[in-house]
Formats: sequence, C-alpha cells, structure tokens
Amino acid sequence: MVLASHYDSKNITDRNGREFIGATDSAVPCAILLDLAIQLNCLFEKAQGEKARDITPQIVFFDGEEAYNTWSATDSIYGARHLAQKWEQENKLQDIDIFVLLDLIGTSDVQFHNFFPQTSNAFELLARKEQHLKKDKLLSDNNRILFNTHPYYGGGIEDDHIPFLHRNVPILHLISAPFPSVWHRMSDDAAHIDYHTTEDFNKVFRVAEEKKRNYDMKGGGESTKAIWEIFQLNLFI
Ligand SMILES: [Zn+2]
Repeated sequence: MVLASHYDSKNITDRNGREFIGATDSAVPCAILLDLAIQLNCLFEKAQGEKARDITPQIVFFDGEEAYNTWSATDSIYGARHLAQKWEQENKLQDIDIFVLLDLIGTSDVQFHNFFPQTSNAFELLARKEQHLKKDKLLSDNNRILFNTHPYYGGGIEDDHIPFLHRNVPILHLISAPFPSVWHRMSDDAAHIDYHTTEDFNKVFRVAEEKKRNYDMKGGGESTKAIWEIFQLNLFI
C-alpha cells in the first residue's frame, strides 16, 4: 500500500514579494500522512501474526507535482512520473494493492468522491466510517458530507497518481472536488485551514470502526484505524 502526497508548492510570488505557501496544496496532506505514520507505527508494534507481516505501507512525498509554468503532460508531476517509471523497471508496481493519494485538503469546503471502480470498496469503507463517526457524534459537523458515496467514475483529476493509473495501479484519490476556493491563491495559507474539518477528515482514518474485524489486534485498545482496515481488505480486484 502506497500513501502519497506532494511536498512542493507552486512557485508563485505576489507583487509584494510574498511567496505562495500552499497550506492545502499540499502541507496539510503531508501533515496527515506524518500523523498516520505515527499511528501505523503503534498499530504495527501491537499487531502480531501473518497479516501484519504481509502489510508493507510505504509513504511517499512527491516533489515537482506543480507545473513550473502551465500544467501540461510534460510540465507537472515530475517526481511521480520518475517514480512510476523507476518502479515499473524494477517490477514493483504489481506489488501495490492500492495507491492512496491525498491532495487539496485543509479548508472547510472539501468534498471527496469515488473516482475509480477498482477501489470503490476502499472509498465506501471511508464513507461508512464517516457515517459511524457521525452517528456517535464524534465529528464536528453532522450535516456535512466529506465522502460522497455517489460514484464519480470518469471524473478523475490530473495529479501524481496519473503515471501509476496508466500502469494499472489501483488508485484511491482523496482530493477535494471542486477544488478549495483558495486553490493557487495567496490565501492558501495557515489562516485558511479549517481545523475542525481537517480533524474530521483525519478521524475517518484514525478512529474506530464499530464492528472490529477479527484479526490479531488484541490489546490494541477499543479502536482500530480505518486505514488499517483498508489494509485488511487486501483485495481490490
Ligand atoms: Zn497545486
């Protein structure tokens, strides 16, 4: 399983010499993955058994996602194109069960869609998790829908997953659509992060599923993590 986001920011400077920050694009997704790395480490330490040994999460931070000038096939996703080619040559792509890409997360207006039939079950798991958390009143806003269950197949957005998608890697693309209103504006900064929404998104990864699957997590506390369950789904075929 690959979990990825990009860590470069678009090279924009305003007329006062202020540089573009890119809080949603993609500092927050990077922060979510760093947090997840800590969570996963705890889970792996507690988990025993073959299933745990079979799981190899890999966290990737891409450079050069943004175009230097205008987005095109040759001026964008430099790091992702390089890695997809490298892994193809090394025959590593067929080992990826799922490639989860996070992007444009952090504002209050985020919404995520089920873009790919191949990973529908993983997306639907996240949507179910959101419902469970709402039922338990564990999210900050019970009316907002983060994970829209209505399939959005064919509505894919160009991002770091493209060279992997073209090589038949199963993709779960967690990017807000429509894009946050601060997208590629100087206002995409810390002041525009909505911490409630962002924490709600993060909780969907981090917090409990009511009905725990029966795997070796005894002593792992009451909660398991959604992302762990995605590992357990194992098959996306
Ligand atoms: Zn961008």
